[in-house]
Amino acid sequence: MEKPLQIQQDIPLAPFTTLKIGGNARYFIRAETELQVADAVRYAKAKRLKLFVLGGGSNALVSDSGFNGLVLQIALKGNQTDYIGNKVSITAGAGEEWDAFVQLCVSRDFAGLECLSGIPGSVGGTPVQNVGAYGQEVSESIISVRCLERETSSFIDLSVKECGFGYRTSIFNSSSRDLYIVLAVTYLLKMNGEPKVEYKDLLEHFDGGQPTLANVREAVLNIRRKKSMVLDDADPNFRSAGSFFKNPIIERDKLNEIRSEFEHIPNFVFGDKIKIPAAWLIENAGFYKGFSIGNAGISSNHTLALINRGNATSAEIIVLKERIQAAVAGKFGIDLQPEPVFIGF
Ligand code: NAP
Repeated sequence: MEKPLQIQQDIPLAPFTTLKIGGNARYFIRAETELQVADAVRYAKAKRLKLFVLGGGSNALVSDSGFNGLVLQIALKGNQTDYIGNKVSITAGAGEEWDAFVQLCVSRDFAGLECLSGIPGSVGGTPVQNVGAYGQEVSESIISVRCLERETSSFIDLSVKECGFGYRTSIFNSSSRDLYIVLAVTYLLKMNGEPKVEYKDLLEHFDGGQPTLANVREAVLNIRRKKSMVLDDADPNFRSAGSFFKNPIIERDKLNEIRSEFEHIPNFVFGDKIKIPAAWLIENAGFYKGFSIGNAGISSNHTLALINRGNATSAEIIVLKERIQAAVAGKFGIDLQPEPVFIGF
């Protein structure tokens, strides 16, 4: 029989986020089954409560005053594997910890997710922003995403096409924002397949060698560790939401304009546009690794990560975010867009 919903009140949200910042949720439900997710959505609707869906909390900034609504934690676990020729389709619950899932796939010699090692968060978050790193992104392996449609409380399986994936985007964070709740994700991986070694950092690391999936996972973890981008309580930079700003995509003309003054600006072709590393813009607008304002700061290992140095408030993070945005806009005329979601502001 389905367990009844447990509705808790005044639950501190900071421990559920990797930034470890924020006030309380007025109501809080942890859903472990699909039916509980549907029940929670109906509860929020009946009580006219705002709803925030919490995954791994790795990409969220919660306001100091908390969230005056219902926070729904997606804790759907488990995975199921089906073998199809030399491929394997593996479906994981949205509440599974992402890196444990990647580790499982790599240990079973399933290729397709190895470059995405060490990314904090949950499986359910990966289709939302089409998580990608080191030359691989989840849209290359996802075949379907199981969702709850919030309006109708019905369950639906969206094909990869219907997810509308682009660079760090999907329908879930754009055209259909807040319409669906991700319940499970199915990835199609290759058995005994070769790892993807195309990104500069990995090519340099292996220098023409033939690494295994496990070798690539270890290399990615090492690269990320050096930038404090792997969750590690012993690292003073560990309280962060990963990259705080998106790498901006600009027009070619804009690049030429900036280049007339900053000849060496790094840039990468992106379709008919140009992608600029946000970290470079921030450093060249006067900030540096280890910079801080009060208890908020920039990681000493990665310019793109804003960190809580301990006891930081969300207000302090916002001050730092705005200082950086104003400086980059003033110097380069580029508006840096934050990557995390803002809750309760
Ligand atoms: P990084 O490797 O220093 O790269 C910074 C930026 O330069 C990224 O936009 C990256 O593109 C671009 N870049 C670097 N080498 C490139 C090349 N050879 N060709 C085209 N573009 C190139 O970045 P980082 O901040 O340390 O992050 C490491 C990896 O994690 C990157 O792949 C980054 O995108 C990824 N990441 C993903 C998310 C997410 O999915 N939400 C969040 C944080 C970081 P790419 O973005 O295409 O790699």
